[in-house]
Amino acid sequence: MDKCSFCGRKKNEVELLIAGMDGHICDRCIEQAHNIVEEELKSKGDTFDLKSIELMKPAQIKEFLDKYVIGQNHAKKILSVAVYNHYKRLGQVIDDDETEIEKSNIIMVGPTGTGKTLLARTIARMLHVPFTIVDATVLTEAGYVGEDIESLLTRLLQAADYNVEAAERGIVFIDEIDKIARKGDNPSITRDVSGEGVQQGLLKLLEGSVVNVPPQGGRKHPEQKMIPVNTKNILFMCGGAFDGIERKISQRMNAQVVGFNAVEHASSIDRENLMQYIAPMDLKSFGLIPEIIGRLPVLTYLDPLEPATLKRILTEPKNAIVKQYNKLFKIDGIELKFTDEALDYIVNVAVEYKLGARGLRSICETIMTDAMFELPSNGKKTFEVNRKYTSEKIEKAGMALLKAS
Ligand code: ADP
Repeated sequence: MDKCSFCGRKKNEVELLIAGMDGHICDRCIEQAHNIVEEELKSKGDTFDLKSIELMKPAQIKEFLDKYVIGQNHAKKILSVAVYNHYKRLGQVIDDDETEIEKSNIIMVGPTGTGKTLLARTIARMLHVPFTIVDATVLTEAGYVGEDIESLLTRLLQAADYNVEAAERGIVFIDEIDKIARKGDNPSITRDVSGEGVQQGLLKLLEGSVVNVPPQGGRKHPEQKMIPVNTKNILFMCGGAFDGIERKISQRMNAQVVGFNAVEHASSIDRENLMQYIAPMDLKSFGLIPEIIGRLPVLTYLDPLEPATLKRILTEPKNAIVKQYNKLFKIDGIELKFTDEALDYIVNVAVEYKLGARGLRSICETIMTDAMFELPSNGKKTFEVNRKYTSEKIEKAGMALLKAS
């Protein structure tokens, strides 16, 4: 009687026996083999291939970012170089001259919803490294209500499936870093729970040290065994809107334009877009402590999104919203088309109600809900989303709905 060439079970002892050229395999062995293959692939995926990253030059890194993020060329260029250098640093051999490449943590300044998180996320995707986003506003000094600073490493560990080695090469995005700025230039008369203390706490993580991390996070599990994590090679990227920082930039620049060429200098300043002149000093005036600024040596800014950019965001990136709807309808055999005027209308709504790029999605959902409900069962094979349809849906939903999103 035929039997499994792997486990030896006979045909009548198994559910299924598949014949090959010189042998047989049973359903149980197939399953087991499948699990082994999965495990193997997974562990391979986890391993960090520095060589393949070294092959990516800054220009290629930027090309990759271009697929997901529209505009922001200045930030992309700076980030591409910073990431390239960071991973060069990981592979460095300290040689005789003992020059050590230092870590290049990054800080991005720019209005909310312009792509800071998206840039960080895209870089992590490109490098296949664990990635986590932490909101700086939830962090507090140990002993206060809120999350301990170490909790951001807990999240990174979780993102790495508790693979410490992988986590130690990961990327942490700290959002709203501007919210932990010191209030006023007056160093704490009363204790500043959410501000300077947190900045002090972040210091040791940013510069690189071994931190004991509670694997479950929080303080709810006092008995848990701490996991030591070395932050030396973790890339920290910080983002913040820094509302009102233009005023600090302007003050600094006004103070600088004195002397011989003052008039000439003053007239060459592009006052409409002061953010492009941002310097570490401005972060200090805003309330970040100098030590933190020193550990975030790569400083870049993001541009506000123009209507033309918003329109490109709707259609161009790899996961563009319009592409996603096309795909959803295609599954039902329906060909969907957004007219150019409809796209302009959507962008106008986003601009008018100051919803930014983040609002594009909810506007589109409002427009498409009825179509997504009705079309799969009414037999139509094509559908055009034009300006008339778009404006009807938006007006019907009422602006209150959009404002709430
Ligand atoms: P923030 O600057 O506040 O971190 P995000 O990166 O979270 O903003 O952006 C919010 C969403 O808006 C993103 O998920 C993305 O869909 C979209 N978006 C923002 N900026 C861009 C951009 N430059 N290119 C493509 N999509 C963008």
